[in-house]
Amino acid sequence: MSKNSNKSTPISEFGEFGLIKHLTNEINIEQSSTIKGIGDDCAVISPNAKNSVVSTEIFTEGVHFNLMYFPLKHLGFKCVTAAISDIVAMNAIPTQILVSIALSSKFSVEAVEQIYDGFNSACEHYHIDFVGGDTTSSLTGLVINVTAIGEANSQELVYRNGAKKNDLICVTGDLGGAYMGLQLLERENEVFKANPNEQPKLEGYDYIVRRQLSPLARTDMKEHFFSREVHPTSMIDISDGLASELKHLATESNCGCRIYEQNIPIDDQTKQMAEEFSINPLVAALNGGEDFELLFTIPVSEHDKVKNDPNITVLGHVVEANEGVGLMTGGGSLVELTAQGWKTPEE
Ligand code: ADP
Ligand code: MG
Repeated sequence: MSKNSNKSTPISEFGEFGLIKHLTNEINIEQSSTIKGIGDDCAVISPNAKNSVVSTEIFTEGVHFNLMYFPLKHLGFKCVTAAISDIVAMNAIPTQILVSIALSSKFSVEAVEQIYDGFNSACEHYHIDFVGGDTTSSLTGLVINVTAIGEANSQELVYRNGAKKNDLICVTGDLGGAYMGLQLLERENEVFKANPNEQPKLEGYDYIVRRQLSPLARTDMKEHFFSREVHPTSMIDISDGLASELKHLATESNCGCRIYEQNIPIDDQTKQMAEEFSINPLVAALNGGEDFELLFTIPVSEHDKVKNDPNITVLGHVVEANEGVGLMTGGGSLVELTAQGWKTPEE
């Protein structure tokens, strides 16, 4: 697809039905649970497991993404990642997606092809089937809605509400990279707007740019937990930042949390970029979203199984609900976390 990127075919030349056919005629089916994909009034799915898990995510141009620097193919992939990440956070296996799009007249057939290249690459990467969607027009910008379907047996599912006192609070990967990547891309976009001859300066920051433009959902963790006999008691994906996700877990599990500043995993590029922006890297980790890592709790008896695991960092532990959701700083003071970050004790 999109072999000739200079071509700009108006969508009206295809019509809505022609466009859908054109975009979806090469879609393959991988999952045995997909009985019928695109083409009828409904997709037909026959789950292999007892439970189907379903989640949906919406993305709006100008609110969730800026097409000045977000390549369309990356955008398509990332929307799928965000939807799949919720399935993964239930410790389920993603199997199918449906994608609805609202297009404004500024989009050509070739532009939509690029977005679909992203959807299709994501489906290939995650081994999921693209089984349907809807198409409509938009008066303003682009809107993309991805519905993700997955499956898991009852004993495998992990909810937000299972954390118990003394459980260890753990996280995969590192945090704040997607947020600092976004700050960098926004800054370079402003420079470009002021002087279109100026090339963006992204050298040395490939990791955080990648974290923003092409993050991956942690589809590897279900097998990782299984093979190491690690049993998460609660889990959530980090789409809005560590602070806000910790608060969700605490509210749903009716518990409190203690995490330790020095334990929070932050990549060097994230730290460097935060320094350039005179931001505390902790702010990026606590408030910055879109890292799509997993935040989870495990029984303290499983500490030995995760303590030397490069994929997993222990941040702290679960406490009583009345002790609140707090961060112990490197300096030894306890600050209460808020959804936006933290507040100092005097506030
Ligand atoms: P209906 O009129 O019943 O909504 P559509 O013509 O919109 O039917 O859809 C026909 C088929 O194409 C359905 O299988 C639907 O899921 C699929 N489809 C529609 N829009 C899209 C899209 N943007 N991407 C992928 N599949 C789509
Ligand atoms: Mg329709």
